[in-house]
Amino acid sequence: MQKNKKRQIKKSRQILLDNNIPITKPRMLVLGILLKNEGPLKVEDIIKLSRGKLAVSSMYRIINNLKNLNLINEFQTLENTKMIELADVKDEHHHHIFCESCGAVYDFEVDSHIEKELEKEIIKIKSKYDIIVKSHSLELLGLCKTCRDK
Ligand SMILES: [Zn+2]
Ligand SMILES: [Zn+2]
Repeated sequence: MQKNKKRQIKKSRQILLDNNIPITKPRMLVLGILLKNEGPLKVEDIIKLSRGKLAVSSMYRIINNLKNLNLINEFQTLENTKMIELADVKDEHHHHIFCESCGAVYDFEVDSHIEKELEKEIIKIKSKYDIIVKSHSLELLGLCKTCRDK
């Protein structure tokens, strides 16, 4: 077995153990695919990468299950495509860059002091609009290098 693959299995197992969630093959499979990719994936990509190890209907069920367990997050691209990614752990927090031409999605992080300033701003917004804020996301829209070079 390759070293990388071994590490992913160990990490998938750790994610489930840390969250007191029973280790099952389908859960390990989906987490492993997301860990390997190191970025968001479309559901259809996850299905493709699973190489038939799981029936498509089971795949949707497992993805929903992991979402309900807060182990993965779902968000939508500009074209309203659903994307799946591993949930942030503890203090980690990231945002997304979207390419408006090809739809590629990238993760990025901002400096922690900017995040703290943003949180302060959100407290003001909360009271101004009388709304309960659960989370925030910052989206950058643009053209990736591949599309620019075309
Ligand atoms: Zn692009
Ligand atoms: Zn992301």
